[in-house]
Amino acid sequence: MKPTKGTHSECVPFSMNSMLHTHWIRTSFLFLTTLLCIGGDKYPHPIDTKVLEEWRAGEVVEEKAVIAYGIDKCFTASPIPDHVWQRMQGKTYKENPHIGRDELRHIRTLHWDYDNRIHIGEMICNEVIADRLVEIFRKLYEAKYPIQRMVLPDVYNADDETQMRANNSSCFCYRVVSGSKKLSKHARGLAVDINTFYNPYYKVRSDGTRYVQPSNAAKYCDRTKSFPYKIDHHDLAYKLFKERGFVWGGDWKSVKDYQHFEYME
Ligand SMILES: [Zn+2]
Repeated sequence: MKPTKGTHSECVPFSMNSMLHTHWIRTSFLFLTTLLCIGGDKYPHPIDTKVLEEWRAGEVVEEKAVIAYGIDKCFTASPIPDHVWQRMQGKTYKENPHIGRDELRHIRTLHWDYDNRIHIGEMICNEVIADRLVEIFRKLYEAKYPIQRMVLPDVYNADDETQMRANNSSCFCYRVVSGSKKLSKHARGLAVDINTFYNPYYKVRSDGTRYVQPSNAAKYCDRTKSFPYKIDHHDLAYKLFKERGFVWGGDWKSVKDYQHFEYME
């Protein structure tokens, strides 16, 4: 029926119906969205902790996975597992009369990088310093102290120059002191190198030229400048190592080794 002019008796209710209808759709949509969000929290997808169970060093992991897995299991020192020992043969470990598997420990640790990501780390060290290292790395983790990479040097075929260029942090490697026949403290797992690219080793040769390791890190020999991962006397790693009986290579006079912390027996 055509509405009578002036009354709009049928037009008004129709318009209100339409508004109510739209409102109902909106409300229902909001209600459903809220329900889905709550449901999402209440029934979350299972958190994947496989990467932690397998301890794949070098991989990034989410904080909720760390919590689900258990933080205490992420900071441990234990005898070297068989699969790790196999990886070390002919690389960081060579048959020798000075140190054997029994005296070495496998450290598991987490560490943050500059981009606020958590990495899985591992290290081989002497049993004498194993508990100290676990304590130091846990404190560094809690303080979100940035360490870029902590994988075994075996990943780089135990080549020191290559792992330093990758800014890798490590401890045990059976080798002599660079440019000598003397066994390095790393050969007994009693020295730790941290953020190696930004904290190079250098010495001035007798002809006045400078020998730098890694060789492409010369600009980080200037310690008056500020840059990421720099270790100095205000640095937390420096303080933690120092408190636990380590000396810092940055304090040496004849050479400088800014990445190096060595345990004094
Ligand atoms: Zn070192």
